[in-house]
Amino acid sequence: MLSVENLRSRYGRIEVLHGVDLDVRSGEIVAVVGANGAGKTTLLRCISGVQPISGGSMVFRGEPLQTVSAHRRVALGLSQSPEGRQIFTNLTVEENLRLGAYLFSDARVETDMAEAFALFPILKEKRNLAAGGLSGGQQQMLAIARALMARPACLLLDEPSMGLAPILVAQILDVVKNLKALGITVLLVEQNAYAALQVADRGYVMETGRITMSGPAEQLIADERIRAAYLGV
Ligand code: ATP
Repeated sequence: MLSVENLRSRYGRIEVLHGVDLDVRSGEIVAVVGANGAGKTTLLRCISGVQPISGGSMVFRGEPLQTVSAHRRVALGLSQSPEGRQIFTNLTVEENLRLGAYLFSDARVETDMAEAFALFPILKEKRNLAAGGLSGGQQQMLAIARALMARPACLLLDEPSMGLAPILVAQILDVVKNLKALGITVLLVEQNAYAALQVADRGYVMETGRITMSGPAEQLIADERIRAAYLGV
């Protein structure tokens, strides 16, 4: 579904992605794990089109992405839930969700909203409240639900566990796992390697702008080097 080849990206003169290769197949949950600063967010931003690339190529559902603008990528079926959530705190929960559906004006928007509320019932309870009043975990749920309103074929999730208590991390990643049943492919970027690899089918380890290991998630969880470096075991 998504294929990234030899991807390079820089901030000014400093290259931070040094030739990244990555594949996401239809129906998979793929996790990219790695320490703070490894380049995970930059990778997602390149894929969604908000960060320029300086080399390499990306193909999504058979279409080369380089010449496709960020908003056209959403229309192609790529939707990102950004790091730090970036919800609109002055708008209500429902208004935030409607913004996620900005591409559509059909009746399916209401069905999509009902589906989002089924995934995250707390958002239904709070639909008319300002999003800024939600807890951190609820804001993360809203960010994911808003990304889903764009009807993605592939959801790009940046650090959904950030700043959340373990119980909420588990809850949110449980929902991510359930997205599979809805036919949504997920590319998930996480510092919390253990949590991410537990829900992923496959994983990539990223270190200072390079992929250093990849494989089935259970194989990575069992790998001694990963256990020592990322799982604190
Ligand atoms: P985090 O978990 O903190 O988001 P990350 O793995 O996602 O980490 P990136 O945010 O992609 O890593 O950062 C990769 C490298 O690029 C880091 O060295 C970071 O300092 C640098 N970097 C990120 N954003 C910018 C920017 N806007 N300008 C300059 N350098 C940046």
